[in-house]
Order: sequence, then C-alpha cells, then structure tokens
Amino acid sequence: NSPLMNTYNRQNVRFARGDGIWLWDDHFQKYMDAISGIAVTNLGHSNPNISAAISQQASRVMHTSNLYHIDIQEELGEKLTVLAGMDKVFFCNSGTEANEAAIKLARLYGHQKGIELPTIVVMQNAFHGRTMAALTATDNEKIKQGFGPFLDGFVRVPFNDLPALEAVFAQNPNIVAVLAEPVQGEGGVIPATQAWMQGVRALCDRYDALLMLDEIQTGMGRTGSMFAYQQFGILPDVMSLAKALGNGFPIGAMLARGKAAEVFAPGNHGTTFGGNYMACAAALAVLGVFERRPELIENARSFGQYLHKRFETELADLPQIKAVRSMGLMIGIQLDRPCGELVQMALNKHHLLINVTRGDTIRLLPPLTLDTQEAITLFDGVVDTIREFLKTSQ
Ligand code: PLP
Repeated sequence: NSPLMNTYNRQNVRFARGDGIWLWDDHFQKYMDAISGIAVTNLGHSNPNISAAISQQASRVMHTSNLYHIDIQEELGEKLTVLAGMDKVFFCNSGTEANEAAIKLARLYGHQKGIELPTIVVMQNAFHGRTMAALTATDNEKIKQGFGPFLDGFVRVPFNDLPALEAVFAQNPNIVAVLAEPVQGEGGVIPATQAWMQGVRALCDRYDALLMLDEIQTGMGRTGSMFAYQQFGILPDVMSLAKALGNGFPIGAMLARGKAAEVFAPGNHGTTFGGNYMACAAALAVLGVFERRPELIENARSFGQYLHKRFETELADLPQIKAVRSMGLMIGIQLDRPCGELVQMALNKHHLLINVTRGDTIRLLPPLTLDTQEAITLFDGVVDTIREFLKTSQ
C-alpha cells in the first residue's frame, strides 16, 4: 500500500549505495548497473569529484532564481556552448523540459518569419518526453493513450527515410523545424544513418528550417563522442540535453546556434529552478571529469564495439535474436518476441540491472567508466540470461 502514485512497476530492490558501475542494496548485496539510471550516471555512481562539488556548493548557496546573475551558470554555459559548437543555452531541469523549450523556440522562429501555423516534423518511433508538447512529438501509442487531444503543428515521417521528409517539405510551406534523436533510444536503439542525417541537414538548409537534435540520451559521451551528431559530420541548429549532464543531479539544457540562438527575448521562456547553483555545480564537475579523462569517451566507443561484436558472435546460433544494434555504449539486442521478463531474471540470477525497451529489445547503457573485467561480467550475465529466457519462452 504505497503512498506513491501508481506510475511505475518497480523492481523489488532498494539501493543504498553506489560506486562506479556497482550498487549495493539495503542488505549489502552487490549489483552491476548496466543501465546507469537510464543513461544518467555515465561517469559512474558516487563519482567523488561530482559528489564533492555538490556538497561544497550546497554549503555556500543553493538557489537564488534567474532574477539574478549566477556566475557558475554562465561558466557552465560558456563551456557547454564551446563544447557543442553552439552559441547560446537555456538551462532547465529535465529532458522533456529541454524539448519543450526547443519546440517553443521553433514555433517562435516560425512566427518571427510570418508563418502563422508553424509545423515541426517529427519521426515515427520517436521518444521526446512526457509533457504535452514532448508527448505530442513522441510516437508511442501505449504512453500517449488517454492523453489526447494533442497539439497541432506536428507532422510525422518514418525515421531514416529521406524521400518521405523531402516530400513533406515540398508539400508544406509551414515547416519550421525537424526534431529527431540521433539514435532512437526508447524506440529500440535505432541509430540514424549517416546519409539520412546529412540529407536532413541539407533539407533544413534549403527550406530554412531548424535541425533540432534530441541528444538527451545520446549526449555526454554515451555514443563514443561527446555528442552523437559529431559522428554524422553535421551540426544541428538546436540540441536538447539532460540525463548525464548532471550525472544524477537533475539538469536539462536547450542549446542553439546562429539565428536559432537569437529567437528568445526576455519574457518568452523561463524557469524557477533551471540552471540553479546546485545543478550547475554538478554539471561543471561532470565537464571537469571529461576534461581530465578524455579517454572515457574513447572507452565508450571501444567497449561498445567490443560488446557489439561479442554479442553478435555469441548469439549467432540463436534464430530468436533479430538484431544487435549499437552506437558506443548504447546497445540494443532485439529478440523476435516480447522479453520484458529478462529484466527480473537478470536481476535475480546475476544481480545485473538491464532494461527492455519497445517490449522486445534489451537495452544496455553501462557507465563510460566500464573496465574490461566489468565488460566481461556484463556480457556473460546478459548472454546467460537470454539463453535461460529462451529455454523457457515459446
Ligand atoms: N528525449 C529522449 C531521447 C529521452 O531518452 C528521454 C528520456 O528517456 C527524454 C527525452 C525525456 O527526458 P526526461 O525523462 O528527463 O524528461
């Protein structure tokens, strides 16, 4: 009889402590966290630099609001925009808020150009969050059901399908932006193709529309570069970030460059908490860790490739495995059947935290601090769990 609103089916475990990829429950049992709090603790649990920055900041000042200058918000903004090749940033508290900000920016961009019904192109199988505009942009019937009416001003095309996008641009003069994930995470770990991404960039340029990338799950080193777009040879106009930006301290960011960076003026958008001292101290510490340990990003790339290849080889004899997909340490193993039970099996038998997304795809998002022994333990646990599951499932 929980006091918590009934929004999650939680696993029956309570964690009390973490260190790197490891978590300990309230009975001192050890678990391997191969999901990183859904792509959040990319630098591992209880990273000492980040913990120290948060506790030091908490004893100085935690919050004053955006009515006043916040020096470390400006410092974080400077570092993040340089890192991302962007000009300006708006800080908020979550991924869905970062996308709301991007959607509002795109609409205002359109209105400023005289487009009365600005329209944003979104993708089939997309996930952008749970607030109303982000949920409208999302394409998942299960989570949308019961929450209509949704917003006007969105059109949807298949992901990785350039002719479909070209057709929409040709037919609709109201398009102001294209919003997409570089790798569809909740949608089953489906990477964009290089040709598609470059084609989208070219179409956005041709039609003066903003290319807005949702890097909430892919950002902060996860895919083997600081931001996934860096591997596609393009630069977006707008990018949303959250999740691993604070390594567990809630912070989101919407970054923009060029004309997109000049759209908002005072009064257009706001937030009480966004970019407060605590969140900025955490995110600055995250960037500090990346500065001192650039090899962590290479780690994501090399361990991602290693695990991908080993899964492909090891599972090759199983016709029930439909595909292994990955970009860095964002790994999906798609089965030919619903496999949600795997999560509990891995937890019970191997003390291994994994996730199943889209119902049929195992998703692994281990921290970038992963070492060889941990990668092997993770690999063995996942393979054993899949084999065990397939023995019992029809
Ligand atoms: N966009 C993407 C690509 C995500 O993966 C998520 C979260 O899973 C979100 C947006 C929403 O972020 P949040 O849960 O912080 O609102």
